[in-house]
Amino acid sequence: MPQKGGFAKNVKRAAGIGCQALQIFVGNPTGWAPPRLSEEELRRRGEQVKEEGINPLLVHAAYLINLAAVNEEVFQKSVRLLQETALRASHLQASYVVMHIGSHGGRGFKEGMDVFIKTLDHILKDWPPRVCLLLENTAGAGTSLGGTFISIGTILKALGNGVPLGVCLDTAHAWGAGYDWTTDEGFEKALAELDAHVDLKNIQAIHANDANSPRGSHRDRHAHIGEGLIGGEGFRRILSHPWPRELPVILETPEMGSHWDAVNLGRLQFFAGMTSDLPDPSLPDPATSRGK
Ligand SMILES: [Zn+2]
Repeated sequence: MPQKGGFAKNVKRAAGIGCQALQIFVGNPTGWAPPRLSEEELRRRGEQVKEEGINPLLVHAAYLINLAAVNEEVFQKSVRLLQETALRASHLQASYVVMHIGSHGGRGFKEGMDVFIKTLDHILKDWPPRVCLLLENTAGAGTSLGGTFISIGTILKALGNGVPLGVCLDTAHAWGAGYDWTTDEGFEKALAELDAHVDLKNIQAIHANDANSPRGSHRDRHAHIGEGLIGGEGFRRILSHPWPRELPVILETPEMGSHWDAVNLGRLQFFAGMTSDLPDPSLPDPATSRGK
């Protein structure tokens, strides 16, 4: 959900097009300093989300956070901002914080993973109850960690079962990392790898994004559902899997206002078999024309 135009207005807009789950940033996604917000204001916002019938709420951590950063200042700021994000998520009564796995910044994959795990272990010792941290797979660009399901599995195994930790599967990032959603064989291979290393029951959210960058390019350009290289049939495959009913599926498609948000949402519902009409973006307003 975008922040522009005020929190309450955007929550109403999301509910108006039929969103059942919502993901927000608590500050500028590309900045270190989130705006000052009192605990009371955060609680009020959390209530607004619930009042609109939306549950769960997910908080996406800022992109700058890197728990494996080589630069000491960036490292310290990352730890502090993640802790602040978790605290705010708890005041918002959010169920999840979603975080990208960082980058080893040249120190090598093995050492980067070790630092990431050690740092996260330390942070999780003082983590708010009732908030689960979800590690999001990346497109695996450059020195980034978390582009393979095996690397995410390594983190989960190292930290054990007693921690509030899960995984958010981003369909476009997985595509960029080389996983193929466009064929039955590719899908089954990706899912088997996910289950073997991560365990499907640890998947607690999906970021449903189509991709504009080629498979395996390690680039990350999101597209509207069905308009990119994953395509509608890719989403039908992904969403036809018997995921738990309450699994939140979040759109991070290009921000183009309610019209496209409603089209993307309607398309997810169509490919998940929840509705029989595929929204056409050339129609004036798919949200109201479908009576939702
Ligand atoms: Zn994502």
